[in-house]
Amino acid sequence: MNGNLFVIGTPIGNLGDMTQRGIETLNNVDIIAAEDTRHAKKLLQRYEVLTPTVSFHQHTKPEKILSLLGDGKNVALISDAGTPGISDPGTNLISFAINQGITVIPIPGPSALITALCASGLPTNHFEFFGFLPQKKGRQTFFKNLIDCKHTAIFYESTHRIEKCLKELDEFLPERTIVLGRELTKIYEEFLRGTASEILHTFEMFPEKKKGEFVLLVGAK
Ligand code: SAM
Repeated sequence: MNGNLFVIGTPIGNLGDMTQRGIETLNNVDIIAAEDTRHAKKLLQRYEVLTPTVSFHQHTKPEKILSLLGDGKNVALISDAGTPGISDPGTNLISFAINQGITVIPIPGPSALITALCASGLPTNHFEFFGFLPQKKGRQTFFKNLIDCKHTAIFYESTHRIEKCLKELDEFLPERTIVLGRELTKIYEEFLRGTASEILHTFEMFPEKKKGEFVLLVGAK
């Protein structure tokens, strides 16, 4: 009989955000498939989870985990932060598992996108999530398409490109409300709100605010 695949959300910064059910599941499964086993160690040590880990990153073939499931092992899938499959490895594995008749059980937990959205003050009834933006090809088109977007747009941006991204938003959507969720759930958590040029001005005055992890939200047209 096949094992079950548990998809477990883990904290996006604050280790206290791990759910009780998530901890119990990590303890009860036979194996934990982690995006980075060394990174996972911090979380597992904090909650005294002794379950063995295997690595499952974006280049790992799903077969590796599918064969464990086929041997009847219960497997927990975790990523470095947040919910697996959301701009993180896991989507392929999950669809292959479903095709093989394996039961996939979600154990909900944090995700940066919902964490940012719920406190952004922007409408939450209609929103679109784009993950990471294309770095080169398709980037301009993305911003052009955003001009007519009638719902809240959400995407992830790295610290290396956050300033560039705001300059692009200032060029294509100068009037729109932007919300930047920075370092969510961590010590320096903050929300920067305003037009792109207002936030760029804040960056000029406080360059340290360009550092960290960011979720970017763009208000609707
Ligand atoms: N699977 C994760 C989730 O459910 O949110 C997302 C993983 S993706 C590889 C990592 C990106 O998520 C970061 O580059 C950043 O844009 C965003 N992110 C993750 N943690 C964050 C945090 N604490 N504050 C703001 N953004 C965060």
